[in-house]
Amino acid sequence: MPELPEVETVARGVDARVRGDRIVDVWFSSYRQPFKTPAAAQARGLQDRQIASVHRTGKHIVMELGSSGDDIGNDGSREKAAEITAQWIVHLGMTGRLLVTTPDAPVAKHTHARLALASGRELRFVDPRRFGRLEFRDLRKALGFAGPGAEPLTIGAEAFASLFHGRKLAIKAALLNQTLLAGVGNIYADEGLFRAGIRPRRRAGQLTRVELEKLRGALRKVMEHAIKLGGSSVSDYVDADGVRGFFQLEHCVYQRTGEPCRTCGSAIKRIVVAGRSTHYCAHCQR
Ligand SMILES: [Zn+2]
Repeated sequence: MPELPEVETVARGVDARVRGDRIVDVWFSSYRQPFKTPAAAQARGLQDRQIASVHRTGKHIVMELGSSGDDIGNDGSREKAAEITAQWIVHLGMTGRLLVTTPDAPVAKHTHARLALASGRELRFVDPRRFGRLEFRDLRKALGFAGPGAEPLTIGAEAFASLFHGRKLAIKAALLNQTLLAGVGNIYADEGLFRAGIRPRRRAGQLTRVELEKLRGALRKVMEHAIKLGGSSVSDYVDADGVRGFFQLEHCVYQRTGEPCRTCGSAIKRIVVAGRSTHYCAHCQR
């Protein structure tokens, strides 16, 4: 499952390629999933829209869209065209991919969306397992998309500490709870806890302020590092050009069960917390 750094990488990659482009034609598959908004309504909504920008919110990719040709009067004023009036929201789910290609590139199996752009490029959504979601929002009728939890890259010390205050569940489980922090998945929870020196089973509410600050910094650092390197690569993740990331080489604990800790040499342990494989160093993490 793509985590925050992968989603950020994809969003940045797509933004760099389609910002300012215009959607001239839309095709959707006939499956019911992955369409959170009915496919026909999405197609109508997306047609002729200008793509103002693409960014990440939590683990969602949000495309900010200008008015469609129909909305812009004959005066064609630039101001009106630049106004954001809709959003296309993409959740990659487990195996979803958002690709920028040329129209003649072979269409992969499980392609659910093809957006032809004025530049001649094509934006495609491919998802073999259909756990991804596509949603269209008309901002004249609905609020803009906001993630369910706080942003781990920008949250302040006070807000971060208050997320875990009084919580009895394990810190690892709390980190995976998307309504607290949006976008932290299994890899970065394990890697962040290792770098902060905190055992994954510690009760979230019992961490000291100093430990929480270490954890906040560690999560941000490890995810920013991954974004810099182009995101992680676990199973189906590829960036907007279809190139696999390579952050996996740098993991300290994640999926390194039995291997020596890069800091102290002790064997990395594996336990299960909140139903998820959890990796840590019993010597470095307390
Ligand atoms: Zn160690």
